[in-house]
Amino acid sequence: MNVEIVTIGDELLLGFTIDTNAAHLARQLAAIGVQITRRQTCGDSAAEIASAVREALERTGAVITTGGLGPTSDDMTKESIAAIFGRAMERHEDIVDALKTRWKAWGRSGELPLSNHQQAMIPAGARILKNGHGTAPGIWLEDERGRWVAMLPGVPREMRGMLADELLPLVRARVIGEPEVIVSRTLRTTGVGESAVADQLGHLAKNPEGVALAYLPGWEGVDLRLTSRGRNAAAAAVALEKAGRALLAVVGPATYGEGDTDLAAVVLATLRARGMMLAVAESCTGGLLGARLTAIPGSSDVVLGGVIAYANGIKERLLQVDAEVLKANGAVSEPVAREMAAGAARATSADVGLSITGIAGPGGGSAEKPIGTVCFGLFMQGKVSSARAVMIGDRDEIRRRAAQAALNLLLRALAEPVPDADTETVFAARPLQE
Ligand code: AMP
Ligand code: MG
Repeated sequence: MNVEIVTIGDELLLGFTIDTNAAHLARQLAAIGVQITRRQTCGDSAAEIASAVREALERTGAVITTGGLGPTSDDMTKESIAAIFGRAMERHEDIVDALKTRWKAWGRSGELPLSNHQQAMIPAGARILKNGHGTAPGIWLEDERGRWVAMLPGVPREMRGMLADELLPLVRARVIGEPEVIVSRTLRTTGVGESAVADQLGHLAKNPEGVALAYLPGWEGVDLRLTSRGRNAAAAAVALEKAGRALLAVVGPATYGEGDTDLAAVVLATLRARGMMLAVAESCTGGLLGARLTAIPGSSDVVLGGVIAYANGIKERLLQVDAEVLKANGAVSEPVAREMAAGAARATSADVGLSITGIAGPGGGSAEKPIGTVCFGLFMQGKVSSARAVMIGDRDEIRRRAAQAALNLLLRALAEPVPDADTETVFAARPLQE
């Protein structure tokens, strides 16, 4: 079954409100084997609503709208859709009574406002979808050919409740035969840019198994979502598994988990398994790395603490960064990052010290060290190493990407066999993020 979505509201067109309703509807419907083939958004205009819904009905015969069901003059969804179906509006006294009861239960004084009476006006022959979380009832309107429009409220909480309680069971009952099964799986990669991942994947990106591949880049890295659909659940799962294996064979080294796995949690688990304690030293991220790590429950058996070494004086005093090294290389440099990492581990007696120093902008960049330049230091079992990368984005994104890259650096180092020579390793200065 194919369904179209029409979300209604001036605030959506103006960009003040992000259309989360359409995304939620699409996910929930996919889970019962219903595909959304098109989404439209229109403003609070009767003519726009009518034309959007009429066109959608012509294409699929199945439309879900959200918004414009409230009691005010900008709410005109019901009337304009009733007109498409040639239905008159009828007043439902039971809805008025229920609204009055609620009005009293909420302890409101006086009579139910007249504008609320508007909510009891329902197109003739419609089915009412109960609203357990608000006042505006939803409406299901169907014609003699079985074409239908379901109208849900705009308030996301109400919409979600009504979808789950009332609408999904109705739609599910209409899915004829075996519903199409949609299964997906997300591999999380980090440290490699989207186009580099695409280049690596080469022919796999074309999906020989009939499994769709989506690239989802973000500050955490590039998530690769595989989606397999078919009539047969077992076959869809097998195709997904096969495609996942093929993908992992290529991007495995950049992968840190699946689904919504947090890189910080993977790092903590790896350190815990090795019985290693961690300390951090942060300049440009100002505690973001520590926050990522300590956001994971049970982090206290791995994380000792850290130093927010923003000022050079703090780097010198609390982390014993050499003033000469600072002067010669600048605060954003690999030698300073290495001393910060070693200093954090020394100050806390940790096995591992991880540091970040960088230029988050918007000021402070130079030709040699552009905004987004970040240096990382890693002290592990007596050895120090470092890396340098240029992060893209605004200040906030640079800082978040930097914390993620530091975690990635540590995870990669933990994956490598520990070299026995007591030497200083310097990682290749390759960009960690595109
Ligand atoms: P309405 O039912 O049109 O009166 O919408 C009530 C409120 O719900 C609006 O002020 C928005 O904040 C919110 N809203 C409406 N449509 C959406 C949507 N598609 N996604 C997220 N929020 C929405
Ligand atoms: Mg509205």
